Amino acid sequence: MKNIWKCAGILLCLASAVKISYAQNKSLVNTTKSPFAQLSSVDMGNVTWTNGFWADRFKVCRDTMIPNLWRVYTDPKISHAYRNFEIAAGLDTGSHEGPPFHDGDFYKLFEAVASMYASTRDAKLDELMDKTITVIAKAQRADGYIHTPTIIEERKHTGKEKAFNDRLNFETYNLGHLMTAACVHYRATGKTTLLKVAIKATDYLYKFYKTASPELARNAICPSHYMGVIEMFRTTRDPKYLELAKSLINIRGLMENGTDDNQDRIPFRQQTQAMGHAVRANYLFAGAADVYAETGDTTLMHTLNLMWNDVVNRKMYITGGCGSLYDGVSPDGTSYNPNDVQKVHQAYGRDYQLPNFTAHNETCANIGNVLWNWRMLQITGKAQYADVMELALYNSVLSGISLSGRNFLYTNPLNYSDDLPFSQRWSKDRVGYIRLSNCCPPNVVRTIAEVSDYAYSVSDKGLWFNLYGGNTLSARLKDGTPIKLTQTTNYPWDGKITIRLDEVPGDKAFSIFLRIPGWCKGAGIKMAGQPVPQLDTSPGAYSQLNAVWRKGMVIELNLPMPVTMMEANPLVEETRNQVAVKRGPVVYCLESADLAKGQKLFNIALSAQNELKPEMMMIDNSNIMSLTGKADVRNEANWKNQLYKEVSTPKRNAVDVRLIPYFAWGNRGHVGMETWLPLDR
Ligand SMILES: [Zn+2]
Repeated sequence: MKNIWKCAGILLCLASAVKISYAQNKSLVNTTKSPFAQLSSVDMGNVTWTNGFWADRFKVCRDTMIPNLWRVYTDPKISHAYRNFEIAAGLDTGSHEGPPFHDGDFYKLFEAVASMYASTRDAKLDELMDKTITVIAKAQRADGYIHTPTIIEERKHTGKEKAFNDRLNFETYNLGHLMTAACVHYRATGKTTLLKVAIKATDYLYKFYKTASPELARNAICPSHYMGVIEMFRTTRDPKYLELAKSLINIRGLMENGTDDNQDRIPFRQQTQAMGHAVRANYLFAGAADVYAETGDTTLMHTLNLMWNDVVNRKMYITGGCGSLYDGVSPDGTSYNPNDVQKVHQAYGRDYQLPNFTAHNETCANIGNVLWNWRMLQITGKAQYADVMELALYNSVLSGISLSGRNFLYTNPLNYSDDLPFSQRWSKDRVGYIRLSNCCPPNVVRTIAEVSDYAYSVSDKGLWFNLYGGNTLSARLKDGTPIKLTQTTNYPWDGKITIRLDEVPGDKAFSIFLRIPGWCKGAGIKMAGQPVPQLDTSPGAYSQLNAVWRKGMVIELNLPMPVTMMEANPLVEETRNQVAVKRGPVVYCLESADLAKGQKLFNIALSAQNELKPEMMMIDNSNIMSLTGKADVRNEANWKNQLYKEVSTPKRNAVDVRLIPYFAWGNRGHVGMETWLPLDR
């Protein structure tokens, strides 16, 4: 009898151990156990930037972006985000202030801190997070619901706010970011304090969707919660979270009178093209990709493939930016019935509708493009997704924050001129706080804190190099064997990359997959100083090197990156007879700050035979690769009150010009800027 009890006791212990045992893998997006993802990432903190581009950005992120944004979010005179939690927790008095998605933005900043802690192990950050979690946990209702605008009103018994009463309340958006932040915090610290809050919140959401009417259930604007719920499943392995994520996709198909503004006019599986609000579209696509990674539901992948081809081949800017229109209508031009046509905010345009001065391209939509393509890359192992991810990162994501790390852009136009005789919403100078919609700043800061998590992946076959940059890697292959290496490079300013293997499993072969970017012709790879015979280095694919590797072996990858003049499909009417300049993954622009006095941006044209040369420069203490050379000048006639005039012949090679990376525009005061310049053939 005693033995039976002992046995049962062990079983009970085991049962409770199983119950509280969460996934041990510490990767940012944890696809380690996802049955339909080919790749998974290394643990947070495995990659340390050493020098070069991302080391510089990471340093600014650590020393300025995060401390500065934390100051902003905890100073109620600037932002009420943290104060709202304190009031909801009963620690302070007052009312909720700020947009309804303020909680979610605070969670994104919290995620940035947790990611930074994973890299730096700075005890002060850990302490800061512990203190903050106490307040967040206190603000949560006993049933798991947490949304400060509602909870503050409930404390006051005003009856003004009820849970999920208004779709514009962004509750699920906020909850989604809580879930993601909690998973990142758990993986970074091993602590379950915020995870427990997120479990209660996810359980609440699970119960809510079990009983809510479709009308109530559709109150899920801006779907960051798909990614959040799946990450909660990956952390806890609780099957009801997977069930919740699946039903969240299905419930979109049950809507009556849905809108493209909320991505629910058409059931997801019936969508044939990307339309409507671009942030919400890209978050939905990223979330659906997460659900696919767990379920292998091919009806989801079918739509994701249609969306990807539509966005990348017809609707994305050369910078990786998404959502060309401030306000669009949808479906555009397919119906005479005005009742069928809806106004859509910050929307994907029609195919090839890509204006430059009036491009919207919210920083969050461009980050959504990264989140979506990262998941597609993990699912498929196809380099085309890494290409888009890298393009967006270097151009339309980084453009959302100043080089100093203190100021932000909400929209990311490709051209800017003070001559445009109307003003558009949102400042075209970066600002410290975007008053009505500060969603982008914490989003871009967490993304920069987390770039190291995108650099490598592992699979059954070996180690994958997705993004290049000077770093050391100390990780484990999929089978658990340790690997250490040092990557030395000045990428993206230079295409030479040297990889030294510092620790390898010496007794067995595995593959190293080097990404050859889609833009790179003539890539070369050497192992131990010798070219590798019959190695496929085609652009837009991973080059596979298989060997029994030895400690100290060196791989040299050379990605030639000449200055390239780019043109758009002629159906993009806004860029007919214009060129954009690219070098490697970086898109360039011309700023009025680099023109001689009296010279106007509009008059500068580039010849297709242009020989622009790379030249390092400093802007606001950041090393930047500029391109210098000659440009042609057109008639400098005054266009005031004139719509048309005779064509003028350009003066050839008339002026010196300097182009700078697009992401670095607007860091030298208020300027005019052009990404697309007229071409003189
Ligand atoms: Zn935003």
